[in-house]
Amino acid sequence: MDHLLIPADAEQMASERRKAKMLKRSQWWKNRIGEGKCAYCGQRTPPDALTMDHVQPLIRGGRSTRGNCVPACRTCNEKKQNLPAEAWKAYLAAITPT
Ligand SMILES: [Zn+2]
Repeated sequence: MDHLLIPADAEQMASERRKAKMLKRSQWWKNRIGEGKCAYCGQRTPPDALTMDHVQPLIRGGRSTRGNCVPACRTCNEKKQNLPAEAWKAYLAAITPT
């Protein structure tokens, strides 16, 4: 069985959430949201309206690392949360210019 399919345990998720909080206070993150752009749809978004999104969700074993955290607009964040992973990928493919 693919180990990526095993959901993260509660302890690991709590630890990753703490890391995410710290990452949000970092200069790196301030620079990221300072660009004022959603990492998914590329929409111009004011920094205070951007949220930190885990590309690989914590529940799926994702970590709070710079490589896994991106600024997302409210629309993308809500869409991603409500969609199964495959549907989200299809949505991204549809809005990404080729
Ligand atoms: Zn977006």
